[in-house]
Amino acid sequence: NKQVLLANRPKGWVQESDFKLVETDVPALKDGEVLVKNLYLSLDPYMRGRMNEGKSYAASSKLDEVMVGGTIGVVTESKNPKFQVDDNVLGYFGWQEYGVSDGKGLQKVSVSQQVPASAYLGVLGMPGLTAWVGLMSIGQPKAGETVVVSAASGAVGSVVGQLAKAHGCRVVGLAGGKAKCDYVVNELGFDACVDYKAGKLVEDLTAATPDGIDVYFENVGGEILEAVLDRLNAHARIPLCGFVSQYNATTAHPVRNFGALLINRVKLQGFIVGEHAELFPQAMKELSELVASGKIKYRETVAEGLDNAPKAFIGMLKGENFGKQLVKLA
Ligand code: NDP
Repeated sequence: NKQVLLANRPKGWVQESDFKLVETDVPALKDGEVLVKNLYLSLDPYMRGRMNEGKSYAASSKLDEVMVGGTIGVVTESKNPKFQVDDNVLGYFGWQEYGVSDGKGLQKVSVSQQVPASAYLGVLGMPGLTAWVGLMSIGQPKAGETVVVSAASGAVGSVVGQLAKAHGCRVVGLAGGKAKCDYVVNELGFDACVDYKAGKLVEDLTAATPDGIDVYFENVGGEILEAVLDRLNAHARIPLCGFVSQYNATTAHPVRNFGALLINRVKLQGFIVGEHAELFPQAMKELSELVASGKIKYRETVAEGLDNAPKAFIGMLKGENFGKQLVKLA
């Protein structure tokens, strides 16, 4: 059973040497337990926060312990009557090939040609739910309003934009590079996408939002947040989902125009998806329907094998992923 452990707490940019690959025996099962062979591991930006020490909404990972993470796998042995061999299960086994569970927190899912196993880590998993919870319950978009989302081609952002389109909004993405922006507009159907790396962020965002911004789904922070704050309409809403541009920063980017929140009577709310489980049934229903009808499309970047997980994780934080970043384990 290959595992990736946290070897060091990174200072600034995370390095491959902050991880350690080890090999252990697959544990023997006790009564009530199941053995799961993980098919895919989800790589998510929040994992960078777990590598740090200090106050956050979740406890930090411990040194020399397996890195945490969502997994989708298949039961290969069961001493728990609720699970049979070959059941597909969504779990939280972390960066390792096999996991043992007493069944708590393990969720059976149905895999089909339309809904492959990997979708439960992306569009129909935690990132999709994050998009729904932030946009629908905090953003509360109304038809005709302008919704802007950063990291627009990514796991969360791509769902936010397509969901807002399905609710009749004008949708503008922000993404790094022409290829991602072309995809966001031509494949995902956004009305416009600003390539923030093209050097004309303020100008391009102004041109793309002629009627200002009513909802800003915040994934990145930094200079993009500043540019957006200058375009907000009165009573705009900001679901504050993530701050990925700052996760490896050693000094915080100061927000020059925070006063825009007051001037425009903006509602800004940070949220953690796991605290909104009461909304998941409604969210899953709508997301499943939109995926089935082709109104929500998604894309994945898949690294092969656990050995490549650290590299893929660092790449994702630098924007090298295109869509949901996964690691194929089996
Ligand atoms: P993505 O698939 O969007 O991957 C991360 C993306 O961030 C990269 O592809 C890159 O896109 C973008 N990025 C990286 N650095 C910068 C930068 N300096 N400026 C602008 N963009 C940057 O990841 P997810 O969809 O999984 O996550 C998106 C956000 O949602 C993250 O902030 C994450 O922490 C947050 N999140 C929050 C949750 C919650 O409960 N609050 C739950 C899940 C996710 P590009 O190439 O376009 O720059």
